[in-house]
Amino acid sequence: MKLSKIASEIAESPTIALNEEARLLRERGEPVIHLGIGEPKNKTPINAILTSAAKLTSGEVKYTPPDGVPSLKKAIVRYTEENYDRLVMPENVIVTNGAKQALFNIFYAILNPQDEVIVIAPYWVSYPEIIKMCLGRPVIVTPEDGTFTPRFEDIERAVTSYTRAMIVNSPNNPSGAIYPPALIEKLVNFCESKGIFMVCDDIYHKLTFDHKVAIPAVRFTKKDVEDSHIIIVNGVAKLYGMTGFRVGWVVGPRDLVKVMTNVTVQITSGVSPVSQAAAEGALNGLQSVVEALRLQIQNNRDVLLQEMKSFNGARLIPPDGTFYALPDLRAFNASSVELARFLLKKALVVTVPGKEFGMEGHIRISYSGTVKDVTEGVARMKWALDPSSPNEIYIGDKKMVRDWL
Ligand code: PMP
Repeated sequence: MKLSKIASEIAESPTIALNEEARLLRERGEPVIHLGIGEPKNKTPINAILTSAAKLTSGEVKYTPPDGVPSLKKAIVRYTEENYDRLVMPENVIVTNGAKQALFNIFYAILNPQDEVIVIAPYWVSYPEIIKMCLGRPVIVTPEDGTFTPRFEDIERAVTSYTRAMIVNSPNNPSGAIYPPALIEKLVNFCESKGIFMVCDDIYHKLTFDHKVAIPAVRFTKKDVEDSHIIIVNGVAKLYGMTGFRVGWVVGPRDLVKVMTNVTVQITSGVSPVSQAAAEGALNGLQSVVEALRLQIQNNRDVLLQEMKSFNGARLIPPDGTFYALPDLRAFNASSVELARFLLKKALVVTVPGKEFGMEGHIRISYSGTVKDVTEGVARMKWALDPSSPNEIYIGDKKMVRDWL
């Protein structure tokens, strides 16, 4: 069958492929632990349930404006004022089908064929693929070995006359790193002076630990929203654990929002009013749910750090945010794909190979599940890889003996 070259070259999602393998194992009754998926276990905040249920029971579930329902846009304007200290108008906001569609739509709106976008490794798997789908070229900048924070000079060196944008994701999926404010400030000044868009994927901005904060890039610009090259991406998926509602948004210059709105009209139309009502309910409801989720995730992170201490050979830079950690396991195997397969086969633990995030030799662990998932998952990983760990373990109700080290 002849299919499009561009579409055929899009990589299969590594998380979806692993999830499928794990699902088949679970169906066979195997006690699989999932440290692959990035999704908090919390229930939808009650206010979001009530507002979306009210919308549904009204029976008025029709097309919505392509840029979002005005009352949700108003809530986003307020959120931006409160959390970014930024005064914007509803014309600066577009509601999207999750942050994912926000990113696609942004790159579709700003890139001409062959334009380059700076992507900092380790990066979220979708960035390079989305950029390629928009006919752009991802240019990867990798930090010095042993760190997850890029050097400004390396980013500067990667910029050419074709560079249209850079994408900055801090707190970072998959490393959990928060970039230092001094770096963000330099990047803002650099982008503003060169006319390069700085796309800030802030989807994890409230999931930070130990009183550390990710200072938003907009704090460092003197330009107002119409003149600035900073584009903010955010959404309810990680903030409230509302991944299934598919509501994200973009805050940027109104010319950009206008073009993105035209694109939306042609491909998806406005987001479902039921989902938008839920997002509005979450944004306008009690914000203690965000702190409760953050505390639960921070506790999981602490448990993970404690468990990792006795994992000889694994090197971990403690994550300062998100619900991911990216240990360096090169002491065991340089190929992260082989490592992830080995961990699934021997220990029934799902992880994601670092290669997919531009960090070969590392493995991404998600600690968004239960404490038990974290403790048992890491214990199994140690058992499978670290010869100094006990060579017997219970996996489910089966006693397993390690006979390969
Ligand atoms: N950006 C990053 C860095 C993410 O990790 C994710 C989700 N895994 C998204 C964007 C997409 O979020 P949404 O579910 O709102 O599309």
